[in-house]
Amino acid sequence: MMNALVKKSALELAELLAGGRITSVELTTACLDRIEALNPKLNAFLFVDREGALATAAEVDAKRAAGEDLHPLAGVPIALKDNMVTRGIPTTCASKILEGWLPPYDATVVKKIQEAGLPIVGKTNMDEFAMGSSTEHSAYGPTLNPWDTTRIPGGSGGGSAAAVAAYMVPLALGSDTGGSIRQPGSVTGTVGAKPTYGQVSRYGLVAMASSLDQIGPVTRTVADAAALTELIAGHDPLDSTSLNEPVPELRRAVEAAVGAKRIEGLKIGVVKELSGEGYQDEVLSAFNATVEALRESGAEVVEVSCPSFDYALAAYYLIMPAEVSSNLARFDGMRYGIRVEPSEGPVTAASVMAATREAGFGDEVKRRIILGTHVLSAGYYDAYYGSAQKVRTLIQRDFDRVFGEVDVLVSPTAPTTAFAFGDKIDDPMAMYLNDVATIPANLAGVPAMSVPNAVSSEGLPIGFQIIAPARGDQIMYEVAGLVEALSDEVAASCPAGSWEGN
Ligand code: GLN
Repeated sequence: MMNALVKKSALELAELLAGGRITSVELTTACLDRIEALNPKLNAFLFVDREGALATAAEVDAKRAAGEDLHPLAGVPIALKDNMVTRGIPTTCASKILEGWLPPYDATVVKKIQEAGLPIVGKTNMDEFAMGSSTEHSAYGPTLNPWDTTRIPGGSGGGSAAAVAAYMVPLALGSDTGGSIRQPGSVTGTVGAKPTYGQVSRYGLVAMASSLDQIGPVTRTVADAAALTELIAGHDPLDSTSLNEPVPELRRAVEAAVGAKRIEGLKIGVVKELSGEGYQDEVLSAFNATVEALRESGAEVVEVSCPSFDYALAAYYLIMPAEVSSNLARFDGMRYGIRVEPSEGPVTAASVMAATREAGFGDEVKRRIILGTHVLSAGYYDAYYGSAQKVRTLIQRDFDRVFGEVDVLVSPTAPTTAFAFGDKIDDPMAMYLNDVATIPANLAGVPAMSVPNAVSSEGLPIGFQIIAPARGDQIMYEVAGLVEALSDEVAASCPAGSWEGN
């Protein structure tokens, strides 16, 4: 029988733990048992650390019994996307090239989680080096969507999203470079947020495109996402792009909005460019219904136009590969992971490097490295990379202008519900198009999040995106809390909820 604890939110579990009604060992065991039962089917985890998680749980239980002061989330299990480095625990980025690598240090977010006493149950599957929208680019096989196992769980963070959606764990972390927390959130009925760039340290996050990457929460409720962000956020001298500012009080913002159930005086902008052509009818009708509900709750809704957003995808697919080609140069067969000698010819540094990268990287990673190297090469730099940077500035200006008129922007998170495996794998452009609505926020560094707002007639979840100005995470969470309160409880209808795990 499935242990009923696994369906509770992280904050509900935190309360049960604080009140001495359950122990962390009991809770962590329930999650680990469910992971053990469902993972062979879903492939959400690449590594499960039963021993380590239970050791942390026992330690927290002992401290609690001794009356020590604990973090509010102490004892609540969490999963990490496999691109966050964990000392002595495999970190593969779902790539063959990092097979067998044991990191010598912990990412800053990992340290914070350990200090707060959250048992880390394991590392989740993803598209290789976070490149993709379906987890089909994982070198270790795709993750299945618990809502319909013939469909993708989104990407690149499909493992974290599926793990949370299937009640394997209440909390997970993801990383979002162009939508890899929000789009998986949308297609798995989970809450996913990309904080303001710099709010959460990137130290120890294996870099994909450093000017776009941001770590964020994957949860089943907005309040859980707020609580987890408060835990991982904050200035970090080890990340030169880290914001040196106090952590915003996100939980308070959610509670206030949900308590009042109204948002008087709030101005919401519907982005014209992100809610029309190319979006499924049901995605649009769910979006319009939520906008209408927000209007009835006291918000003023206006349509705004951000014309440069039409070029966001094109700019992203020049800037991101440029940064990828530079960041992934470190995987040279000498410093990390596997080392492959050439099958013929002399063994030189260059030939070992070439053979290692040929064997270790998958097609999508190679495609982006080649593209990035090309757009940065002499003679093409100005035409491609230079132009894309100009477009990036225009997008930032569009945001600045509309945020002078409205408090937050809204759109569907993804143009479609979860698509079937194989649908887009041979057509990179079609795969890239799934990110049209999520990419602008990364290019501008502003916070954005996805909240499940409906289930389609096919029984698939739909997500609603809220975008706020830089450092406007608090107001984003207020609106998110309200959207959640106004929507049917989506998570409750995930079929995985009735699967017998343990
Ligand atoms: N799907 C996007 C891409 O393939 C976003 C990836 C991400 O956010 N890590 O680049």
